[in-house]
Amino acid sequence: MMRRLAAAALMAAVPLQAAAQTDAVSAAAEAMGVETLDSITYSGTARSGAFGQSKAIGDPMTTVNVTRITTYTRTVTFAPPASETALVSRATGPTQPPTVPGVAPQPPGVFNQNVSGAQAASWAQALNIWTTPWGFLKSAAANNAAPRAEGGQQVVTFSPAGFRSPSGQAYTVTGYINAQNLVTKVETRVEHPVAGDLLVEFEYSGYRNMSGVQVPARIVQKQAGMTTFEATIAAATPNPANLSELLAPPPAPAPAAAAAPAPAGAPPVDRLGEGAFKIGGNYQSLAIDMGDHILVVECGQGDARAQAVFAAARQAIPGKPIRFVVNSHPHFDHAGGLGAAVAEGATILSHANNEAVLERLLSGPRALSGDALSRLSNRRTDVVQPVGDRDVRRGTNGRIVELHRVPNEHTDGMLAVYLPADKVVWTADLMAVNPNPVQLGALRSSVDALDRLNLDYSTWIQAHPPNPDRPLTKADVMAAVK
Ligand SMILES: [Zn+2]
Repeated sequence: MMRRLAAAALMAAVPLQAAAQTDAVSAAAEAMGVETLDSITYSGTARSGAFGQSKAIGDPMTTVNVTRITTYTRTVTFAPPASETALVSRATGPTQPPTVPGVAPQPPGVFNQNVSGAQAASWAQALNIWTTPWGFLKSAAANNAAPRAEGGQQVVTFSPAGFRSPSGQAYTVTGYINAQNLVTKVETRVEHPVAGDLLVEFEYSGYRNMSGVQVPARIVQKQAGMTTFEATIAAATPNPANLSELLAPPPAPAPAAAAAPAPAGAPPVDRLGEGAFKIGGNYQSLAIDMGDHILVVECGQGDARAQAVFAAARQAIPGKPIRFVVNSHPHFDHAGGLGAAVAEGATILSHANNEAVLERLLSGPRALSGDALSRLSNRRTDVVQPVGDRDVRRGTNGRIVELHRVPNEHTDGMLAVYLPADKVVWTADLMAVNPNPVQLGALRSSVDALDRLNLDYSTWIQAHPPNPDRPLTKADVMAAVK
């Protein structure tokens, strides 16, 4: 009986909701030609930045980081994937890589940004389909989104069915529909190791009717509030007859030299000297006994690695808190463990150029990932302590750890770590073995900086060890830069 009553109540509510949808979502779907749209291909030119890998971490579109896609073609299908390997979105085109000062021009390449059926099961990838103007309207209708009028536009918010974040929380999509019934912006949030609940925004403008479908001539993508991609669209075809050809996966790339497999279990720990340890892996860390606390250098690419590094550090140097974690540079593969460092209660030491962005990303909303920091009820702010171009840390036991900025085109906020007692230099992303031209440029300028400081070192430790791994010396570095 109760169930029947509840069902009747639901039924009664439906007409109201449907009416509201007619006002906004359906009107936009009709105006934009979405109702008969199953797939679309569109093309133009694009510029792709380097989110989380840029020279200045706050500017993904800086000159040395922008790849031009000289003919950008993207195809999307809104149908369920035919198989796990079938593509549901494919973007491709010839590229002109950025020009890096001091490095010979890089040869043209090929842009590839594809989403397979299997990948579309995660919101991080699926959002690329459901935040397109057309996908958004389809998804809003399917999810019974409730529009609201706000400032002369309709705002539509809903949780896409079938997706759950690692913490178990639903995702949210919000889209904006203007008075012409055109979608001007769609935004969502997705879990991210550094940025927490990463805000991803797509802005659409300059709409033109292309074969009966409204297509934005201008697409701008922002992540964490920073522009990371922009496209100018000149042509589009709805429901292309050659869809399967357009969505054909590209030829598999030649297998890259396999990275050394991540060791299972606890990482290996090597003693470098009195109270100084190297924690092995693909993101090698240091743990230093500073007398009354531990200083960790680098805590890896994510939560799990950071926890493993902290456990290894505590085992090597028992009974002391981890009070500082040095971040070599803010690229996301080196900053993914910083949330865990904050949860650990440590202060992050990073170059001053990185402070504002890291502080902002690590202090933002963080409910989706379920990582150590997201589980803290009392979040600290002011977790990043900026380091100048030279910083000398002195332990209560007399231990000295020097932090030196090494300027290079890879990042404007790179710290090298020098342990004078052990004659060790530790660096990240400065490859002394088989560097490619861009890596060699960064190594050269960094080694010049170390030479000017007259650091007396014999051992060179890279966050990424050479493959196969072997101990590196100053002689290896000098041979590489010669
Ligand atoms: Zn890097």
